[in-house]
Amino acid sequence: MNYSDLKQIVHHLKKAVPCSNCKKKFENEEFEVLSTFGNEGLFHLYCHKCRNQLLVHVAIVHPNQKKKPLERERGEFKKPHTQTQIITPNEILDMHIFLDRFNGDFKKLFTLP
Ligand SMILES: [Zn+2]
Repeated sequence: MNYSDLKQIVHHLKKAVPCSNCKKKFENEEFEVLSTFGNEGLFHLYCHKCRNQLLVHVAIVHPNQKKKPLERERGEFKKPHTQTQIITPNEILDMHIFLDRFNGDFKKLFTLP
């Protein structure tokens, strides 16, 4: 995910995702990029008006990814289609509880009992 992708995602989120509590639209300074990996990004949105917080997971899907390279060169490459998934405050709370208890032992976490 490059800077241009990030800019488009923030632009998309500003239009499509209002604050879930007070319905205010988010401004640039209310966005924080937590992480990006491949075509996916995790964003933290903080509403300055009501202090609501949202975690948003975004995956970029290129609808014409399967087209032949030649067709792309003709300028048919469309803007990435973004899919947003809103994480609820309860899920954030679950994550906080998990992190409080997590001792950093990833090996144990991914080992079957
Ligand atoms: Zn709000």
